[in-house]
Amino acid sequence: MKRTFFTTLLASLLAAAPLSLAAQHKVVAHRGFWKAEGSAQNSLTSLRRAAEVGCYGSELDVYRTIDGVLVVNHDNKINDVRVEDTSYPNLQYIRLSNGEYLPTLLQYLQEGARYPQMKLVLEIKSHRNAEREQSVVDDIVKLVHDLGMQEQVEYIAFSRVVCARVHEVDPQAKIAYLNGDLSPKEVKALGWTGIDYEKGVLQRNPDWTREAKELGLEVNVWTLRGEEDIQAHQADPNIDLFTTDDPDVALRLTQPASEPAKKKSGKSKKKKG
Ligand code: MG
Repeated sequence: MKRTFFTTLLASLLAAAPLSLAAQHKVVAHRGFWKAEGSAQNSLTSLRRAAEVGCYGSELDVYRTIDGVLVVNHDNKINDVRVEDTSYPNLQYIRLSNGEYLPTLLQYLQEGARYPQMKLVLEIKSHRNAEREQSVVDDIVKLVHDLGMQEQVEYIAFSRVVCARVHEVDPQAKIAYLNGDLSPKEVKALGWTGIDYEKGVLQRNPDWTREAKELGLEVNVWTLRGEEDIQAHQADPNIDLFTTDDPDVALRLTQPASEPAKKKSGKSKKKKG
């Protein structure tokens, strides 16, 4: 009887195992946790908020100005001026929607270094031509190395030139391809370490997440929004990372008992006085 009981128990534990795989998905805050109070996309606050809620990583976008300053911004233009064609003094006092000044990459990395447990998923944006892109990569990788942050920074890019250059100048670095037009096999052959594809790409190529895992590539999907979207992707155990605009929701669903999330909800419930 006992044996039957334990056999049954073991069988039910094994049956429950796939559920626990859901907890394997790591959460990356897309442009930081910008929906948090007082935050803004790609702001230092968004980085801090992502760390505070316990994200695995926080994503950021990087351009280089014509006078060689690396700045954190998503769009290629600010007030109709192309970031890569203007000099830093023209951007320095631009304010984000939360009142912060536009951060430089140096400021962003220095802030990120205060949260060494959180990865910085650094998107190197496409620039005007291959020569410029290679030189932007060189500058970014050098800065990351100068700050000793190689372990904390992972790179992503749409540009194949950028991915190839990262792999060339820092073969140890993680570099994931964003553009969705290479199969996992092709990405692997180029020596890059992951695919970071838009969710529609993965839907159209349903075998790619499994293929990528079999090849030892890391799999990231973007941009997940809202509970249903996140839950739908939890069904795929071959996805490693969820890049999401709702990191708090994703953390609740993937790591329901996580300590930082508990702390935060406890704090927010406290009344004044
Ligand atoms: Mg980005």
